Amino acid sequence: MIVVLKKSASVKDMAGVIKHIEELGLKPHISEGEEKTIIGAMGNERMIDREKLLGLAGVEAVIPILKPYKLASREFKSESTAVSVNGCKVGNGAVVVMAGPCAVESYEQVRDAAICAKEAGARVLRGGAFKPRTSPYAFQGMGKAGLEILARVREEVGLPIVTECLSQDDVALISEYADIIQVGARNMQNFSMLEKIGKQSRPVLLKRGMMSTIEELLMSAEYILANGNYNVILCERGIRTFERMTRNTCDITAVPLLKSLTHLPVIVDPSHATGERYLIPPVSLAAVAAGADGLIIEIHPNPDKAMCDGHQSLDLKQFSALMVQVKTVAVAVGRTI
Ligand code: PEP
Ligand code: MN
Repeated sequence: MIVVLKKSASVKDMAGVIKHIEELGLKPHISEGEEKTIIGAMGNERMIDREKLLGLAGVEAVIPILKPYKLASREFKSESTAVSVNGCKVGNGAVVVMAGPCAVESYEQVRDAAICAKEAGARVLRGGAFKPRTSPYAFQGMGKAGLEILARVREEVGLPIVTECLSQDDVALISEYADIIQVGARNMQNFSMLEKIGKQSRPVLLKRGMMSTIEELLMSAEYILANGNYNVILCERGIRTFERMTRNTCDITAVPLLKSLTHLPVIVDPSHATGERYLIPPVSLAAVAAGADGLIIEIHPNPDKAMCDGHQSLDLKQFSALMVQVKTVAVAVGRTI
């Protein structure tokens, strides 16, 4: 249920509505838009007496949210959310590119990738220190040492970092280092981890599960929002279909669809979505043209020697060339970068 406050509502009126919602055992979520202030009352809606709420001072309307993803829906918040990452805003119209290696392998590897990423116009550095691998015998990432490398390169190059959290036990550690906590496709429905990530304030990059529907992605975002963290960026990274020529099938339609259903920013990962280096540039451009708020792209100084996902990583020259094209398409569709 959402409570829309009158333009003339005072701070005291707002406090009264919040108190009433809390007394019902529900959780108030406040969205202060330019036009109006809305308070979401989340929890067991049967507790709500609509007439009583309508009678409170400062209340203009009480409207049920029909979508199951309440706080993530455009019904709750019609204005798009821009997630702030160290001054860089994801979701404010500009195309934000995140780039870096799949996995952190060494200081030199991350530094070289970061310098190229920054020079080419990327705004965030990616790199996994904890890697979710299908095989328990595959390289699992450098762990804490990898986080240290990312933090050092952040200092030297000046790009914020996005890195994956694999377990609810690591949320505190990852949030100590990361500017954005990545929730990978395999963990999209790790609800206890989502709750824990929702209880801290670092921005989150929530990747779509490879077998998850759009609604399931939004419900996972809802877990984070419902716990108080509103800084969620969604990521389409391809879904598993019958097609075997690509690692996944990039659901480009998900971009405009999500943008219509939710106020949260949406980015696309053309690396995992395709699994093929030569498909990254065209799919990146398609994503920008379809309205994506950004891209997350795997790059490596020497992709053929990469310990993880080298065949879907661009080398540094290829990335710089792609960024020129991304800028052209961004401008063509009325965006900036
Ligand atoms: C990654 O970004 O390196 C990754 C593992 O992605 P996904 O969770 O989308 O497979
Ligand atoms: Mn990868």
